[in-house]
Amino acid sequence: MFDIIIIGAGMAGAVLAERFAKSGKKILLIERRQHVAGNCYDEVDANGILIHKYGPHLFHTDDAQVWEYLSRFTEWQLYFHRVKAIVDGKPVPLPFNFNTLREVFPTSLADKLEAALLKNFEYGKKVPILELKKFADSDLQFLADFVYEKIFLHYSEKQWGLSPDKISGAVTARVPVLIGRNDNYFGDKFQAMPRLGYTKLVKNMLNHKNIKLLLNTDFREVMNLRGEEIFLFDKKFDGRLIYTGQLDELFDKKFGELPYRSIKMKFEKIDAENFQSAPVVNYPNNYAFTRITEFKQIHPVKSSRTTILKEYPQEYVAGKNEPYYPLFTDAARAAYEKYSAELARFKNITAVGRLAEYRYYDIDDVVKRALKIFGELNA
Ligand code: UDP
Repeated sequence: MFDIIIIGAGMAGAVLAERFAKSGKKILLIERRQHVAGNCYDEVDANGILIHKYGPHLFHTDDAQVWEYLSRFTEWQLYFHRVKAIVDGKPVPLPFNFNTLREVFPTSLADKLEAALLKNFEYGKKVPILELKKFADSDLQFLADFVYEKIFLHYSEKQWGLSPDKISGAVTARVPVLIGRNDNYFGDKFQAMPRLGYTKLVKNMLNHKNIKLLLNTDFREVMNLRGEEIFLFDKKFDGRLIYTGQLDELFDKKFGELPYRSIKMKFEKIDAENFQSAPVVNYPNNYAFTRITEFKQIHPVKSSRTTILKEYPQEYVAGKNEPYYPLFTDAARAAYEKYSAELARFKNITAVGRLAEYRYYDIDDVVKRALKIFGELNA
């Protein structure tokens, strides 16, 4: 009856369901939550503001193929993300750039540091903070220590529950020091928000007669693995299983639980037209939350009220909260490798997405990866 079972209707599952359905395959798409779009899910709240229930998701990509693909399912609203961080009580632009230098230091010192940066790096380059810390130049040392202490150290400790040296440098490299004067957070070629939101975008992708969507269904209610075979409603299933959930759950946690980092999302409705000076303001050094998002600045709307989100990082506890981020410690990686080796025994199961591949994928990374997997499986 079905050619392919896909578990999870987030971005990875939606791209693969859409691609295979279009190629004539019959898809059973199983989703545990009551809605599609995974952590991109958005909805209009009582203030009339489109909010992102699982934290801010800003779309940006340098990949023309990803942009073209998603553009089939949505119109875009041009949007260039801006982030500020509170440093010594004052909001300053991120990524840390020459404008930031001038906000945090007196002009003479800012001039000196800017000259030191330009002497060592090409204009426009993005330098990860851990790389900047390695330079012997005393001005660069001073700047690296300042940025590390004021922007990265305490934010990362809050976000990950670990000091930055215990997590992969690739994580902090996501927010580099920029040699230049551009406050645009991402700098990608294509930056925009789906005009009617991600949920609508994903619904448009899944609107196909070959896709049967089962919401509110844990995959274990309808299928299981026995030996190296897949059973759907107790009948052997010979098609392909595409799995986008946590890999430990697929294998009954037989090697223990995979660690993830979670966040408690606290939305607040504010009785004022505006709340803050940028769509996202990071609080590296104060409070238990890491950042505040004001959604009205991402999806502009006329309203006398505004809605904000405070993010409180916390340990992931299965069944209690959401597994937002894989962890980047050696132990976590080793735990994942065990499940990955187990997966390799199954010729007709493909794991894809942030949870299943245990990777820090952005939205465009997921779409790109899913399109690539479709190409390989459909060859
Ligand atoms: N980061 C930081 N200070 C900041 C912003 C980011 O230390 O003000 C570090 C932190 O470790 C964080 C990582 O950079 O987890 C990636 O930040 P990003 O904004 O990309 O995180 P996401 O939006 O994916 O949660």
